[in-house]
Amino acid sequence: MINNNKAIFFDRDGTLIDIPKYKGFKPQSFQKLCQIYIKKDVVEVCAMLKKKYLLFLITNQPDVSRKLNSKINVENINSYLKRKLLLDKVAVCYSDDDKNFFRKPNPGMIIELKNKFKLDLKKSFVVGDRWRDINAGYNSNCKTILIDNNYNEKINRKPDFTVKKFKQILKYIDI
Ligand SMILES: [Mg+2]
Repeated sequence: MINNNKAIFFDRDGTLIDIPKYKGFKPQSFQKLCQIYIKKDVVEVCAMLKKKYLLFLITNQPDVSRKLNSKINVENINSYLKRKLLLDKVAVCYSDDDKNFFRKPNPGMIIELKNKFKLDLKKSFVVGDRWRDINAGYNSNCKTILIDNNYNEKINRKPDFTVKKFKQILKYIDI
């Protein structure tokens, strides 16, 4: 393992993998491993970032508590991504209760990883495609990068940086 205390916390759906887009609806997520595609440049960019940062996945998967998807489906996708992108750890929140400390925009998943890996969050980044990701980063003092997928959704806090394409995050993250 690399010896450092900086991390990048990636959201999953719409950030690392494509999502189905339905006009006028909120962003959805795919349910099964056979449906997903890792977005362009993600494998290469993660390999570069890995040299200087610990890489984490932090994902809300409320469909599990809503009984719309199974834990095993979620875990299959997550372990595939962990393997392909050499992630150091995956954190999932299955709750759909916004008061749950681990559900983004709350910072629970980030704080738990911070304690476990002794991270310096001021040197760390949250990368995501929705307001929940940006607020989770804000609520834990990380820098935030929004992947702007053109959703019809208001951003609640201004991200530190906004990009259209995944590989553009390299402009803002020191490697
Ligand atoms: Mg997302």
